[in-house]
Amino acid sequence: MINRYEETLYDAYTQVFSVEDVYYESKSEHQHIIIFHNSKFGRVMALDGIIQTTERDEFIYHEMLTHVPIIGHGAVDRVLIIGGGDGGMLREACRHSSISRITMVEIDRAVVDLCREYLPTHSRGAFDDPRLNLVISDGAEFVATTDERFDVIIVDSTDPIGPGEALFTEKFYSDCKRCLYEGGVIVTQNGVAFFQIEEAKNTADAFRNLFRDWHFYTAAVPTYVGGVMAFGWGTDNTELRHQPLATLEQRYQSAGLTTRYYNPSIHQGSFALPQYLANAIGKPG
Ligand code: SAM
Repeated sequence: MINRYEETLYDAYTQVFSVEDVYYESKSEHQHIIIFHNSKFGRVMALDGIIQTTERDEFIYHEMLTHVPIIGHGAVDRVLIIGGGDGGMLREACRHSSISRITMVEIDRAVVDLCREYLPTHSRGAFDDPRLNLVISDGAEFVATTDERFDVIIVDSTDPIGPGEALFTEKFYSDCKRCLYEGGVIVTQNGVAFFQIEEAKNTADAFRNLFRDWHFYTAAVPTYVGGVMAFGWGTDNTELRHQPLATLEQRYQSAGLTTRYYNPSIHQGSFALPQYLANAIGKPG
């Protein structure tokens, strides 16, 4: 059994985890999957050599990619999650009783099955929620062909490597826009800006042509090394991003959420960007 796991996302820089136990390691139809135990982060999953999620810090990422668009929108009924096979995003979306239907399009059934078994605290039963419509398919194909419409689309994909590559194209974003109800919003996992600034730039170039209001917001997730992760935001409703703090607080209270990272002040503050990211996407700081 291995006793150390080295992430291979970057050539000249890496993070290494001690490995106390390996629950699963194999190749699925789409990618290499390993789930192991690390004494600091608990159970950790990596896909194709890239850290995807850990028991200890997943809440930051999943709370920020669900509650910011859902509370910012204020009247979400239908959500689309692209990717998200570990179930953490689904868990957080399911906490909003106002939502009647959540469609999740994950390309790799093995990720869902393995995370239900070896990362149960991620989904915490959410895969059994009657509101879930789980589709095992390529998310890019789904948004190109579906007749369904959504108030919020969350792109919870791997990096633009392998199967995830299709989820960072202008065609994909244009198809996502087609699937949004009027006033709906798309949010995207767009990499750690300090190391992956091209991801944010490319998404900005696409969103600039597609949406009346586009921006990014950020949060630092310890195992997404290099500082803040950028989350893309695109909508034709120019008010959504500028909700008063009192409105966010009222919605947060009425949703009855207890969170460990998200709160209305973090929501508002997360749209303030570090200057290097603002410069890269051609926006004032
Ligand atoms: N939090 C992680 C991050 O920020 O990189 C993402 C975690 S989630 C496990 C990523 C999921 O995207 C994986 O389960 C992967 O199988 C899925 N995925 C990758 N490409 C996809 C595609 N084209 N369509 C649907 N799901 C895809």
